[in-house]
Amino acid sequence: MGTVLIRNAQIWDADAGHLYSGSVEVRGNRIARVHREDVATTQGRDDVINAEGMTLMPGMVEGHCHPSFVGIATNPELGRIPPEKHTLQTAANVKLLLEHGFTSIFEAASAKPMIGVTIRDAINEGLIVGPRMLAGSPEVTTTAGLGDERRRHIHEESFGLVADGPYEMRKVARECVRDGVDIMKINISGDEFVSHARAEVTTLEDDELAAFMSVAHGFGKLVAAHARSSKSVKMAVRHGVNCIYHCDFADEEALDLLESVKDTSFVGPAFGLVHNCTKEGEVAGITPAVAEAMHLFRKFDATCATYHEIRKRGIRVVIGGDYGFSITPMGQNARDIEHFVRYFGYTPNEALRCATIIGSQLMGYGGELGEVKEGYLADLLLVRGNPLQDVSIMQHKDRFAMIMKDGVIYKNPQRAERGQEGLIAAE
Ligand SMILES: [Zn+2]
Repeated sequence: MGTVLIRNAQIWDADAGHLYSGSVEVRGNRIARVHREDVATTQGRDDVINAEGMTLMPGMVEGHCHPSFVGIATNPELGRIPPEKHTLQTAANVKLLLEHGFTSIFEAASAKPMIGVTIRDAINEGLIVGPRMLAGSPEVTTTAGLGDERRRHIHEESFGLVADGPYEMRKVARECVRDGVDIMKINISGDEFVSHARAEVTTLEDDELAAFMSVAHGFGKLVAAHARSSKSVKMAVRHGVNCIYHCDFADEEALDLLESVKDTSFVGPAFGLVHNCTKEGEVAGITPAVAEAMHLFRKFDATCATYHEIRKRGIRVVIGGDYGFSITPMGQNARDIEHFVRYFGYTPNEALRCATIIGSQLMGYGGELGEVKEGYLADLLLVRGNPLQDVSIMQHKDRFAMIMKDGVIYKNPQRAERGQEGLIAAE
């Protein structure tokens, strides 16, 4: 069991709300000691890292991650990639996420059945390098729902598994269970990108959601839902969905319901895609006129208003913003932290907590991950600079001097000094 001493650091532990000087000792895969002073002795340590000028903090958690979204511009493109190539592209993405400081990812949906579970297992078996991962099912949707791109005259695959009625819902849910997923994803509302079922349309019926939930929770799976319309948010809460994404158009009653389950459920705005389509859409052909026609400005404003309210009500929110489209390149994921501060009124400390401790609770590691605390799992970052002064530094992988997951150092500043910058399989 290796011992690593990280000395001379400024520690942001996700709890204190400020930085303090200290040293942290890691034994095996756990944080053994947190010293509030410098520990100079190197005796008995396998590795000593001098963290002068750096912030030691918990690794980040991507709470709405699509590692199998591989830079596509439109949804049907995902259906056209052969599964073998798609799996290798996903392996490249999870390595990229770890390089960008994400030591955990909650897969908000796999673009095809089995990609997520295959990648999760490959990481756990040491075949590939990546974060801790909970694997998602594909997005289960209905005919005419988000993820159904078929037309009368042609078959077109996308990322959805289409099921209609309680019977088919049960069947597709059980197939996802059989595949070995950790998270079951269900699309309850439409989206701006579906011309016949925009964001404020609720595409799923109550009996369909009930059937899906009964199977998912019966097998002990987490459920995550795509829910933009107010009605879809209410359905998600009433049926016990664990993580409710978007919630853009939640009305007062929906917000009250979300607040009533704030100790057991999570929400995530998935704001990156909303932001980039609205503010930076020209590169993808989303001109202001197109954005207006797709009601994107309306959605942007609704999301900001909703998350101001969600923040005030103390509802737990995770970062992660549908990164993986050409307009939201994978690796930019930590932009969400800055968005939380700029658009939703979070302090830097609060936004960083969403990206660490709250994400760890969503991952099911509450009380042993997401903080720098004795006994906790050693997922740690050394960041050059102070993220409390400027959260945007979390977006730049060159800022990460050290990346440690489960006590294993994947990026080591001592190697960087020797000119060996970059991610390594293990040390
Ligand atoms: Zn998504």
